[in-house]
Amino acid sequence: MGVDLGSTASKCVILKNGAEIAGSASVGSGTGTSGPVRAVAAALEAAGVSRGDIARVTATGYGRNSFEDADDAVSELSCHAIGAHALFPEARTILDIGGQDAKALSLDAHGRLQNFVMNDKCAAGTGRFLDVMARVLELDVSELGARDALAESAVAISSTCTVFAESEVISQLARRADINALVRGIHDSVAVRTASLVRRLGLREPLVMTGGVARNAGVVRALSQELGVSILVSPLCQLNGAYGAAIHAWNKTRE
Ligand code: ADP
Repeated sequence: MGVDLGSTASKCVILKNGAEIAGSASVGSGTGTSGPVRAVAAALEAAGVSRGDIARVTATGYGRNSFEDADDAVSELSCHAIGAHALFPEARTILDIGGQDAKALSLDAHGRLQNFVMNDKCAAGTGRFLDVMARVLELDVSELGARDALAESAVAISSTCTVFAESEVISQLARRADINALVRGIHDSVAVRTASLVRRLGLREPLVMTGGVARNAGVVRALSQELGVSILVSPLCQLNGAYGAAIHAWNKTRE
């Protein structure tokens, strides 16, 4: 079992024989809340097994060291690398955008982590920025991708600071700006920030996106345009770190 105790969400993946996902769950509350325990309970239920059936548990994510019911704790950098490499063995760059940070990782041909850069100092370019903007627009984050696809133009957001950008969106709303165009402008703004992170690392294709924000097709669209490359999105997206942790637990069990 892999448990990802994120800043914003808790994720759990149960692997059967190291290959098949027997059950998984994602709960929208992160470390320090009841989220991790609820994610584990939901994944056990989905898999139709009990805690006693689990051979080994690996915790990852921001709160990995606070999870008592784990056999080991592994950094999310390693777990995202393991998870993405398992799904896309050819991946050379991974971009993981979570609730409070964004990380760009480079992998060698064997899926080993070579280098990484991280933004954990500023909410701009993270899921938090999108969560704040969605609230102002009275939308759910899960609606942003579809809104982006409907937009015929983009309202540029010039402030990089989340707080100032929020004020900018509020004043655009007061001027009756088109919501879809605003959403597109917000995604373009996230893409500019994350593209600079990827360029700092050095982009090597193929680029795979993981993390909760990869569920937002509007951000994937904007980033692909900004970097001028196509982006592979992990089908597990937000579960990718927990998946990598579960693979790690399986490898340790075999050892
Ligand atoms: P962390 O591991 O830091 O808790 P996650 O990788 O779980 O972060 O990502 C959380 C972010 O994912 C949220 O801030 C939100 O912006 C985004 N997100 C979550 N669910 C969805 C969804 N259904 N559609 C689009 N974005 C989503």
